[in-house]
Amino acid sequence: MPVIITYLQKLLVMHIINLNMADRETATGVVGLVQAYVNTVDVQDGPEELSDPNTLSAWLVAHELMESGQTVTEADLKHAVAVREAIRGVIGANSGRRVYPLDIATLNEAATVSRLRARFGAGGKARLEPEAGGVAGAMGRMVAALFAAMGDEDWTRLKLCGSQTCRWAFCDRSRNHSSRWCTMATCGNRQKARRFRERARVGG
Ligand SMILES: [Zn+2]
Repeated sequence: MPVIITYLQKLLVMHIINLNMADRETATGVVGLVQAYVNTVDVQDGPEELSDPNTLSAWLVAHELMESGQTVTEADLKHAVAVREAIRGVIGANSGRRVYPLDIATLNEAATVSRLRARFGAGGKARLEPEAGGVAGAMGRMVAALFAAMGDEDWTRLKLCGSQTCRWAFCDRSRNHSSRWCTMATCGNRQKARRFRERARVGG
């Protein structure tokens, strides 16, 4: 009996640790919004949250980037996914990756198409607002969020997982900003196992 209780306690502790790991990797505020958008797909294992125009529309409305009842086409979906992957590319710079000209061009195009303008609210605070509606406007708001996120102190902590097949966006809360994989529990162990197998192969 004591063995079983210890085992259950261990499971519970592991569960709590995993929950904390997950929370720690999630950014808040505008950086959190950018992270949430990039992580609408798990590149490695799926699923894809933005699988069709309806799910894209639902996501954008839920995150107050678009009003409900707007027409969303397949072309809009393609545009939104392209912007998402361009943002992933730009976040890669925080992990020491090269930023590709195509990603830069995609983000500049999204800003242009949405007709982003600086607007001052009643309280005197400035923000970037798109003139375009629909998904084009929503992508403009996403670019504006990225613009604001880059000025946030948490920005450089937002990184891409070092695994080429994963590329999950995670918030690196380690003291010296040295985390390379999204969770040690999953990707870190996967990397370790791969290195172990490679060493074993070289050794044998
Ligand atoms: Zn990962």
